[in-house]
Amino acid sequence: MATITLDTVRKVYAGGVEAVKGVSIDIADGEFIVLVGPSGCGKSTLLRMIAGLEEISTGEIRIGEKVVNKVDPADRDIAMVFQNYALYPHMTVYNNLAYGLKNRGMAKDEIDRRVKEAARILEIGDYLDRKPRALSGGQRQRVAMGRAIVREPAAFLFDEPLSNLDAKLRVQMRVEIKRLQKSLKTTSVYVTHDQLEAMTLADRLVVLSGGNIEQIGAPIDVYDKP
Ligand code: ADP
Ligand code: ADP
Repeated sequence: MATITLDTVRKVYAGGVEAVKGVSIDIADGEFIVLVGPSGCGKSTLLRMIAGLEEISTGEIRIGEKVVNKVDPADRDIAMVFQNYALYPHMTVYNNLAYGLKNRGMAKDEIDRRVKEAARILEIGDYLDRKPRALSGGQRQRVAMGRAIVREPAAFLFDEPLSNLDAKLRVQMRVEIKRLQKSLKTTSVYVTHDQLEAMTLADRLVVLSGGNIEQIGAPIDVYDKP
């Protein structure tokens, strides 16, 4: 677990678009932050900068003690959850979960412990021998989250992970993520344009508009103002 500190973070793209205009946020250890706002407000750019996937023009981002822009990608200790499942179709669920850890040369018994722990939390323990095609959409989404969980990262970054799901599954997975957050208490930054999703999940909401923070606060304070 870790704090995440955004200190006057700016992003100017090569073409001159100022996508993020000096944003500062102190994210507490274990806090679930949701970045919300209309298309083009700078949500993805900000998330990608936290992930170290996008160069920061000026300002600084720290995850715990580590300055993001100065850390090797392999040592960043964050896990991203995307909208596309990106599961390996030819591998079992177990091996989908274990794959990244194996690649890092982690000991087999430690991999096994982590995979089984993630499977327990996500309630997919009965499907470990199946291939992704033999799973429902919701089960697949859980395996995708499992791949982030087994890394036991300091922080989770979610990039609209539910936007490709049908309405029913979206509600189900929202509840699932909420439950997960309660048991794992891992610092999280979650991007969505869905207000209901934002309100349900967030400890604190950050409403972005044109690259600036328009509002920041608990969901009830942000949305219930007259
Ligand atoms: P959101 O995620 O809220 O939809 P983005 O962060 O994707 O917003 O985009 C913010 C602004 O930056 C938009 O004006 C967008 O067109 C611009 N932008 C995003 N990515 C790039 C890029 N790779 N090159 C130039 N401009 C970009
Ligand atoms: P590898 O792909 O590295 O050969 P194995 O399939 O031999 O891995 O499994 C290594 C260990 O992982 C096994 O000893 C077992 O504990 C665990 N394991 C593998 N598949 C499963 C599964 N479907 N369910 C539970 N544990 C599994």
